[in-house]
Amino acid sequence: MTDAILVLNAGSSSLKFQVFDRAGDDLTIRLRGQVEGIGSRPSFRATAADGTALDPLDGLDTGHTGLLDRLRTWIADHLGGDPLVAAGHRVVHGGDRFGGSVLVDDAVLADLDALTPLAPLHQPHNLGPIRALAAALPDLPQVACFDTAFHRTQPALHRRFALPRDLHDQGIKRYGFHGLSYAYVTADLRHRVPEIAGGKVIIAHLGSGASLCAVEHGRSVESSMGFTALDGVIMGTRPGSLDAGVVLHLMRQGWSADRIETLLYKQSGLLGVSGISNDMRDLLESERDEAAEAVALFVHRIGREIGALAATLGGLDAVVFTAGIGERSAEIRARVCRQAGWLGVRLDPEANQRCRGEAGRISAPDSRVPVWTIPTNEELMIARDVVGCLTGA
Ligand code: ADP
Repeated sequence: MTDAILVLNAGSSSLKFQVFDRAGDDLTIRLRGQVEGIGSRPSFRATAADGTALDPLDGLDTGHTGLLDRLRTWIADHLGGDPLVAAGHRVVHGGDRFGGSVLVDDAVLADLDALTPLAPLHQPHNLGPIRALAAALPDLPQVACFDTAFHRTQPALHRRFALPRDLHDQGIKRYGFHGLSYAYVTADLRHRVPEIAGGKVIIAHLGSGASLCAVEHGRSVESSMGFTALDGVIMGTRPGSLDAGVVLHLMRQGWSADRIETLLYKQSGLLGVSGISNDMRDLLESERDEAAEAVALFVHRIGREIGALAATLGGLDAVVFTAGIGERSAEIRARVCRQAGWLGVRLDPEANQRCRGEAGRISAPDSRVPVWTIPTNEELMIARDVVGCLTGA
């Protein structure tokens, strides 16, 4: 019998899951999958650890209701009698209270509910499956793992907006996100290259959501994301940092909050500037000027952010690229590093070209600042935190 740990990452229209086998502290992926199109046309896909497709879950109704029950039964059918011993959940917001992952009980759930106004688009979807599992399996330990927790080490000054103090006291401050990814990459870097992991490192998480984080001694010092996941660098459909006056201007033009929300979360960024796609691959392949401009702006804003974070750190000992674009696009890495050349960053073009989705050093041997790619693994980070919470580590 092998203990199994379920990891869930629930969004508004998708539910991603992975199941890990646990033997002591060792975790190995057993199966993974996702339901997409919840609320419209749900579709299900799952594969075993070796990539072979597993039988589908047919006849899903469109909503969230009942979905987790169906999925739970499907997973149990695929565990061949092995017990599910715990579940871990990605939860976007842990506010100021949670500086690490936590075993969920009623009091924790109430605290997490209270954070919903800070992340209305994500928090309810993250908490829904926790409730559904608790109702079905009341004895199953469940662990909430936060995108904000890694950033709780940031100095108070870095978290403050220059707004009146009472707004700060209400929670309007910088939290930072992608924390599970940064925690994973930081741990991996410590394992791979301990001599640089303790220094001043900038990690660039460049996926469809994107942010950068300044890390010193393995702890977050500052992040490009702030109060929400809208801040910082350009993303697939989000603009990154934007003069708040633009929002005021649109409101005065009669735009509703909902329309502005759609603009900022779904219609801007690479998609908005290019008018073509939010997918970096499409833009790199396109010959249209608008695509080139979107990519150039993406690179420019990342370069600017690297400069700002290096200033916060007072130096730079390493740069690490991660997430879809960071792990796979040699061209974007090359262009970002060219822009950061003044900091002592120099790539090895061949090493950079070779590195597509695996970990490796991509800087030239004489680069003052080593550059690495490290594939992120937020789900494994969650599974590790589940084990940590179960064992009290
Ligand atoms: P998410 O934030 O949804 O987890 P990922 O980290 O998987 O996203 O990154 C997804 C993005 O990575 C895609 O939108 C795509 O633009 C980009 N991407 C993936 N592979 C490549 C590649 N080979 N070249 C450029 N961009 C890529």
